[in-house]
Amino acid sequence: MSTIASIFENKTRKPVISFEIFPPKRDELLKNIDATLAVLASMHPDFVSVTFGAGGSVTNSATVEIASKIKKLGIESVAHLTCLNYSKAEILTMIRNLEASGIENILALRGDSNPNAEPKNDFVHARDLIAFVRENSSLGISAACYPEGHPEAESLDADIRHLKEKVDAGATHLISQLFFDNDIFYRFMDKAGKAGINVPVDAGIMPVVNKAQIERMISLCGASLPEKFRKILDRYENDREALFDAGMAYAVSQIIDLIASGVEGIHIYTMNNPKIADRLTSAIKNLF
Ligand code: FAD
Repeated sequence: MSTIASIFENKTRKPVISFEIFPPKRDELLKNIDATLAVLASMHPDFVSVTFGAGGSVTNSATVEIASKIKKLGIESVAHLTCLNYSKAEILTMIRNLEASGIENILALRGDSNPNAEPKNDFVHARDLIAFVRENSSLGISAACYPEGHPEAESLDADIRHLKEKVDAGATHLISQLFFDNDIFYRFMDKAGKAGINVPVDAGIMPVVNKAQIERMISLCGASLPEKFRKILDRYENDREALFDAGMAYAVSQIIDLIASGVEGIHIYTMNNPKIADRLTSAIKNLF
């Protein structure tokens, strides 16, 4: 059994590198994911995680299908799983489905409330899902963390207290929300360590390749934009290729600083674009 925590324990070359992809919305695009996966696999990430639509439909089939394709390529996969809109019985069905497909790791999330789906009230926070999975399965459990605090949290300190509850409930690895200012991540790590959170943490990096994308992401997740990065966006917003180059250069500089500062893992939000993963991995391959 290969849990993500065991990858961190056994790896001699640090940091651990991982990618995140999402299941395409339309069926025909799902077929094209093979090409993306082949390119990602050629970069030998330590694991690839696959997101899960908060939905309300009782299926995580696209996530499971892609996570199991990744395993077949010889790469560890992590299937995201949200709980707000599901009953315990539905979550149990999804857990058994994951196990039957050979998937060994999940990222246990609360998810966001969805106006088209009634919360089922069996799970209020991710912590409840983590405890339920721990009780009912031997899947490896990862959880989300927020260097700037989750947008609903009353404070970063309160959010870190709740994060500790997720670790105490059974999460053995954390993946961070994206951030553009490494100092924010370092401050968060310091606070998390002082709060007794000692599991490995992946720093989430999203290379920005267009301005609409970044504005959408920021309104969704509340990440702050440092002034130097805002200037880059303003300077190159109307030049696709230049913004791609500048966004990549910014992400590479963040990653170099993270590696030099000794982070344990880097999780790259690829947005299903193998060009992004390719550019980043070739820029950092000699830095370990
Ligand atoms: P929780 O840990 O439950 O936290 C949510 C809020 O509740 C926080 O403000 C927290 O401080 C607070 N809280 C927690 N416990 C308590 C308590 N005991 N008492 C009071 N307050 C409490 N969403 C998707 O739909 N699909 C995905 O695939 C997906 N992937 C993600 C991957 C990563 C790496 C990250 C960072 C986020 C992802 N999300 C995804 C988004 C996520 O679902 C949302 O951020 C959601 O709002 C919170 O999920 P959580 O698991 O962090 O929730």
